[in-house]
Amino acid sequence: MCASERIGPHHEEAGFRYHRCSACGFVFLLPIPSAEELHRLYEEEVGATFHHGAEISGAFEKRREAGFRLSLLGDALRRSPERSALEIGCGAGYLLDRLRAGGWSVRGVELSDAYVRFARERLRLDVGRERPAGRFGAVLLFNVLSHLPEPEAEMARCLGSLHPGGVLLLETGNAAEVPPWRVGHFGAPDHVWHFTEPNLRALLGRAGFVDVRVVRLNVEWQRRAIAALGRLRGRRAPAAAPAAPGPAAAAPAAPSAESLPKKAVVAALLGLRFGAGRLLADRDHFCTLFVSARRPR
Ligand SMILES: [Zn+2]
Repeated sequence: MCASERIGPHHEEAGFRYHRCSACGFVFLLPIPSAEELHRLYEEEVGATFHHGAEISGAFEKRREAGFRLSLLGDALRRSPERSALEIGCGAGYLLDRLRAGGWSVRGVELSDAYVRFARERLRLDVGRERPAGRFGAVLLFNVLSHLPEPEAEMARCLGSLHPGGVLLLETGNAAEVPPWRVGHFGAPDHVWHFTEPNLRALLGRAGFVDVRVVRLNVEWQRRAIAALGRLRGRRAPAAAPAAPGPAAAAPAAPSAESLPKKAVVAALLGLRFGAGRLLADRDHFCTLFVSARRPR
């Protein structure tokens, strides 16, 4: 990230070793997993046990989250020269669905077969594994950059996918700024990179982006609230461990109806994250960073 060689071990997590650059604070896995390994991890491990089920069935949460994200970056979106958007790593497609409802033409790229099928068959979205040619008014990557094998090359590709004046919107965690005594939840092994805010500004600047703006969102409160709820649930229903859904082979199911109490809890947590999180952003370093940048005209 900064070409320094002052790199030392940071911590070990799930058998994977994070390292940190003491010059710029960048935290990353060594050895760096290959693109093939990352894809395998997604499909076989992360996907099978968490992402596919939660993304697709959590429609209420995902739609609401999409609304919060888009409103947080609303100013940047309004600067888009054209109401066309490409989302990289669009998951089940709820955010694209929401943008489309707002009059945008949308396309998505997604590696997971289960998401692609869900987005195409259930939401009727133009989503595929291949990056479409052509240029867009906006390119979006929400919680994707940390997982990509080549973040620098990806930023260059994003610039190429934008019209002059087009906007890039991204969100990524900045666990790299977490103080050492709070280490241990960096999300190994699929979270390869943990950027600091200066890292992101440098990365985007080198790719040719201008007008980089960062909104910090404190996620510590939400994390604690989820942990507390988890403990509460554990006490009430100790045997309620759901079976892990199968990997990509299952047909895309319609999202199951979500109960009113669950929706209320989800709405409260999201409100905490995007409301209180914005207010408390400077009081705690465990933030997620919302970044907007522009391709020069
Ligand atoms: Zn560095």
